[in-house]
Amino acid sequence: MNVPLSASQITTYLLCARKYQLRYELGLRPEFKSAALAFGSAMHSAIDWWHAERIDGRSPGAAEVVRTFRSDWQSEQETGVRYDADENAAGFESLGSALLELYVARMAAENIVATEVPFEVPLVDPESGEVFAGRLRGYFDALIGEPGAETLVEVKTTARRFSAADLRRKVQFAAYRYAFRQARGRVPDVKVVALVKTKRPAIDVQDVTETLDERLFVRMAVEVGRAVDAGVFPANPGWACDGCEHAKACAAGEVKRAA
Ligand code: SF4
Repeated sequence: MNVPLSASQITTYLLCARKYQLRYELGLRPEFKSAALAFGSAMHSAIDWWHAERIDGRSPGAAEVVRTFRSDWQSEQETGVRYDADENAAGFESLGSALLELYVARMAAENIVATEVPFEVPLVDPESGEVFAGRLRGYFDALIGEPGAETLVEVKTTARRFSAADLRRKVQFAAYRYAFRQARGRVPDVKVVALVKTKRPAIDVQDVTETLDERLFVRMAVEVGRAVDAGVFPANPGWACDGCEHAKACAAGEVKRAA
């Protein structure tokens, strides 16, 4: 495998390999940015800023976090955000403000140890110890607790609460648990903080006690990497086409790398 893969690249490949090719191999710019994606990005920026302030010994209140979010959200509007019929910028702004107030209230007592922590680890079979070609890369959203015994925190903006089955099957959680163990030599506790975009905004904090089997996850990552190296990118027309940011390039049979 030539390039390290992230959990999101693995998920994209498994959803539609043609989409993976357009985005990551050919490097095409998305044809639009969904409001949900832009919203998640502005929320993560504001939360990361707050975490960094806390690590530096300051404790900005929710009003300041909301101000940071609003500024990021305004910037997002300049990137060509696409809204569904029942969505608009003002609605997302008030939703984000309410969710950030809940987040700050819920996390104020936690000791934030690190934020946006990058990792890049080898792919190793957990039973045989075989080291495969390729690496896994990504970011942990935050580490909280006592240094040396940190809990890994993933913050997600989501349309609904995660069920136990959602948490158990998500590639991302298996990837992060595996990466943490590879990088630090212990299996971490993992918490997901879901910021739920329901009419009445809610925060739902759950311990991720069970993820995909580690060996299965490593195999998935290795096999996706091998398929990418071999240039295997079949289209997978289906429900994902409706919100696909590369639908026009896909239909046009695009095969050229972006200039
Ligand atoms: S339009 Fe559908 S088939 Fe084409 S890249 Fe997007 S998800 Fe895949």
